[in-house]
Amino acid sequence: MTLTDIEIAQAAELKPIQEIAQKVKLDSDDLELYGKYKAKIDFTTTKRLAGQKNGKLILVTAINPTPAGEGKSTVTIGLADALSSLGKKTMIALREPSLGPTMGVKGGACGGGYAQVIPMEDINLHFTGDMHAITTANNALSAFIDNHLFQGNLLQIDSRRVIWKRVVDLNDRALRHVTIGLGGPMQGVPREDGFDITVASEIMAILCLATSLTDLKKRLARIVIGYTFQKHPVTVADLKVEGALTLLLKDALKPNLVQSIEHTPALVHGGPFANIAHGCNSVLATQTAMKLADYTVTEAGFGADLGAEKFLDIKVPQLEKAPDAIVVVATIRALKMHGGISKDQLSTENVEAVKVGFSNLQKHIENMQSYGLPVVVAINEFSSDTKNETQLVKELCRKLGVEAALTAVWEKGSNGGVELANAVLMAIESSSEGFQPLYNAEETSIEEKVTKIVQQIYGGSRVLFSKKALTQLKTFKTYGWEKLPVCMAKTQYSLSDDPSLLGRPTDFDVTIREFVPKLGAGFIVALTGDVMTMPGLPKSPAALNMDVDAEGKVSGLF
Ligand code: ADP
Repeated sequence: MTLTDIEIAQAAELKPIQEIAQKVKLDSDDLELYGKYKAKIDFTTTKRLAGQKNGKLILVTAINPTPAGEGKSTVTIGLADALSSLGKKTMIALREPSLGPTMGVKGGACGGGYAQVIPMEDINLHFTGDMHAITTANNALSAFIDNHLFQGNLLQIDSRRVIWKRVVDLNDRALRHVTIGLGGPMQGVPREDGFDITVASEIMAILCLATSLTDLKKRLARIVIGYTFQKHPVTVADLKVEGALTLLLKDALKPNLVQSIEHTPALVHGGPFANIAHGCNSVLATQTAMKLADYTVTEAGFGADLGAEKFLDIKVPQLEKAPDAIVVVATIRALKMHGGISKDQLSTENVEAVKVGFSNLQKHIENMQSYGLPVVVAINEFSSDTKNETQLVKELCRKLGVEAALTAVWEKGSNGGVELANAVLMAIESSSEGFQPLYNAEETSIEEKVTKIVQQIYGGSRVLFSKKALTQLKTFKTYGWEKLPVCMAKTQYSLSDDPSLLGRPTDFDVTIREFVPKLGAGFIVALTGDVMTMPGLPKSPAALNMDVDAEGKVSGLF
């Protein structure tokens, strides 16, 4: 009988977190314990480590996701376990799951099978409270804004032009548009508002890009909450609440230490989505891991067109270190879907469909190579894969100068990841051209940045800007926001902005309907298609299978 992810996780032996910390030479003074198996890393430790040399960084990304599933987190954890099993001092740096997708379709985000981070029930649910702190800081700012409007509005904020939204870490479509302040003069100033999911919030992005408490405070102060009646931007510094917001986030900024099933130390910290935010765990966690371990394996969300592009163009400048190798995860099943096969036909051998669907993988490989970085493909094995199909992918990859390794970490843990680990070690040693970002943020306009991403990464033809977007571009120039990088908000399912275009679409245009300035995060979000910053729940949410028994034993997470 095949065990479920949660059954495997519950059967795994958890070692005390101090023992895990010792593997990377951290002692009790470096840890703030959250029970027996979770700890936060103290600021004095992150400061002490700052001067030390960085280990190697491996970024795990993937093809465009399909309902067939890709298994990036699974491969990230399994690869790290395999490197550990080869005697390499390794750490994992991952994002924290969001309750929205956990309760919705994903059921959890701690990897799967024998490649998981544990205790997965805790990590998937309230963990060390970071999500709550971020939600609270975000909504505290909303409360300060509405109080300012109520108490005489000294700053002359135009209540119709407040862009700061409230957040909740759930999929709740009913909250996308709300009206607040109703009930008469004593209840506040009525205005339209709306909720985003916490992981799409600017505070989440800020927490993930901040390099220290001081940097966190500076970034919070720069947040633009809206505009005055004279259309001047209003910031958190104008409201004088950056200190209070930093206070609410002071513990959330510290990276969380846990372990994999095979006891590789893992920092699980920060969790922006990759379609509507920048999609990578915190800079502080990745930096800390790179100081402590010789190899850090980290992940960027969704396909390489979203997560990896943002990792390389938004996170790397803050990290001051580019990855030493990139792993692109693909499954035979997903390649078949990109080749036009429906979900119910995926278990039948179809070499032709794999060949057609390979076009999606090929584009992502070429994109990653265009950054000058060595690439390895991980074929995340499913029991339905056939030798003819995997052989074909290996051959096609070889033609592109890339090694493709069969990866069975879901089924076998580290043993199933040795081929991949060796391929990655070889790639790191190979001489690569060196990292080349897609654009120089300071020297290119926002239009040019968007156009480069659309044409070079997505493979599109033209960028069409809505009337609103064009007006925004003009005003952003006058505010001096042109030099910021761009964070695309786009469907994860396609290289284009149309989720139904699978494989490697060509001759398509991408429409930018609106820009959202995120000055604290330090980027401008470009909204494409009809991508939503507050997801909804599916007809049968994963929550329907979740339960906890009288002894507190959890079921239904995966
Ligand atoms: P991603 O990070 O790409 O979203 P995950 O690693 O979270 O994907 O995996 C998604 C789901 O697919 C998990 O429930 C995991 O158990 C399952 N899964 C991953 N790899 C395999 C595999 N090789 N065989 C069967 N199920 C898998």
